[in-house]
Amino acid sequence: MASRNDKIRVGVSSCLLGLEVRFDGGHKRDRRVTDVLAHHFELVPVCPEVEVGMGTPRETVRLVGSAAEARLVTTRSGVDWTERMERYATWRVAQPDLAELRGYILKSDSPSCGLERVRVHGASGIPSRDGVGLFARALVKRFPWLPVEEEGRLNDAVLRESFLTRVFGYQRVRAFLDDPAWTLAGLVRFHATHKYLLLAHSPRHAKDLGQLVARAKTLSREELARGYVEGFMSALAEKPTPGKNANVLLHILGYLGGHITDADRHDVLAVIDDYRRRLVPLSVPVTLLRHHVKGRDVPYVRDQVFFAPHPKELGLRNHVA
Ligand code: SF4
Repeated sequence: MASRNDKIRVGVSSCLLGLEVRFDGGHKRDRRVTDVLAHHFELVPVCPEVEVGMGTPRETVRLVGSAAEARLVTTRSGVDWTERMERYATWRVAQPDLAELRGYILKSDSPSCGLERVRVHGASGIPSRDGVGLFARALVKRFPWLPVEEEGRLNDAVLRESFLTRVFGYQRVRAFLDDPAWTLAGLVRFHATHKYLLLAHSPRHAKDLGQLVARAKTLSREELARGYVEGFMSALAEKPTPGKNANVLLHILGYLGGHITDADRHDVLAVIDDYRRRLVPLSVPVTLLRHHVKGRDVPYVRDQVFFAPHPKELGLRNHVA
């Protein structure tokens, strides 16, 4: 569901927005989050340590024990916050504002917000890097298909594009299936327009989803909706490679059949080959192919989300993988 101002809502660790909620009263503003993503999303700040009542400034906390049974303990005085944080996190992720989120950006390395590789201090004295922050754990348990990423990884163009593709995809699939009036014919259309995007991420999931839709009449609406979201988000979680993208581009070119001249087809093939060899970014063959699709009587390919899975202002698909 889009938010009240129609922007997609994305949760963010508060300190990344520049809010002074860290243990020392400071913040960890992340310019990519505040300057780029804020234009496209309504960012919803959550600071678990402040909201659980630790106060600011506060004594630092860390994970202690083992990754499977990590406890959240203050570094100097040894106060154990585990139960309070777990109770708070379970309650917080059940609040309606979090159910509206379509993505989440977490602060790395935090014993509360870190998604992976958080330090856990065990008996050996050498911290292992296999912990998960207690709030992050509750978040992904409650929303297994919510796209979640740490801020540092968003500096990588490929990971950033992957995260944003999942956010916009999650928004589209939830907007469609959350409407109680959705129909099977509508789902068939939704699936058809996403076919090439799904293929570019995961041919296996694309095939499974096609089969799910084909046997839709044997399933209840709830089973169908649950199975579709699960398959859709599992597909988008897989990384598209130049090989998979090139195959999709060739499929689309094949679909154009006699709609383009041999010379134009030759040009497109050459650009797809350049892309496959990582000489040009994906935006180059996509733009050329889209130009040939435009204005021709090929609605099936013209309407493919693959051509524009996110706003072009985000400048994605301009990197060479
Ligand atoms: S990492 Fe999480 S808990 Fe720590 S200050 Fe930032 S928002 Fe608060």
